[in-house]
Amino acid sequence: MNATREKLVLPDSGDKLLLHSCCAPCSGELMEAFVESGIDYTIFFYNPNIHPLKEYELRKQENIRFAQKHGVPFVDADYDTDNWFARAKGMENEPERGIRCTMCFDMRFERSALYAHEHGFRVMTSSLGISRWKNMAQINDCGHRAAAPYQDLVYWDYNWRKGGGSSRMIEISKRENFYQQEYCGCVYSLRDSNRHRRDQGRDKIRLGVKFYGTEDTEG
Ligand code: SF4
Repeated sequence: MNATREKLVLPDSGDKLLLHSCCAPCSGELMEAFVESGIDYTIFFYNPNIHPLKEYELRKQENIRFAQKHGVPFVDADYDTDNWFARAKGMENEPERGIRCTMCFDMRFERSALYAHEHGFRVMTSSLGISRWKNMAQINDCGHRAAAPYQDLVYWDYNWRKGGGSSRMIEISKRENFYQQEYCGCVYSLRDSNRHRRDQGRDKIRLGVKFYGTEDTEG
């Protein structure tokens, strides 16, 4: 296993953590780090951006499988795609890392923050920032904005990539043979990824066929 993890301590003397999880590959490293540091945490799976339903179920079931392995509570939140599409209206052709993604993070974190507030969690964080495909500053901005209305809640903007986190994320994914998604999640990212592949002369994305550890994989 890559570099040793540092012992984690929740900010603001928090005693339990709500982890917004986007998928098993991204949350695996965080989950094992929390277990190792003795942090009491619950997974909150709220990702109505993921399209289509088949892909949503694949990602969710993989996350449930790993949560059960560690005996971690898993909150299966709404798949309210109507709200997601309503908020994405007019942003269909925005590039990844642009304003549609800010909306998407905002929406997922607003619901996570509300759940945290209503269920006594004083700290929340997200697995989204560990992916090198994402803009960490953009994610942290959204996280802080979502937590700001609640005086009893903080967004923990820990850099999960540092200290070998990015490498361990891939190692865990390979060890667990996690399902490997090939696009960010929404229908527009699927469309754009397929366009990119077409321009490279590659086949379209096929859902449910690629798993870490079964061939050469990248994070
Ligand atoms: S590209 Fe990813 S982060 Fe951006 S809107 Fe789509 S699913 Fe959300």
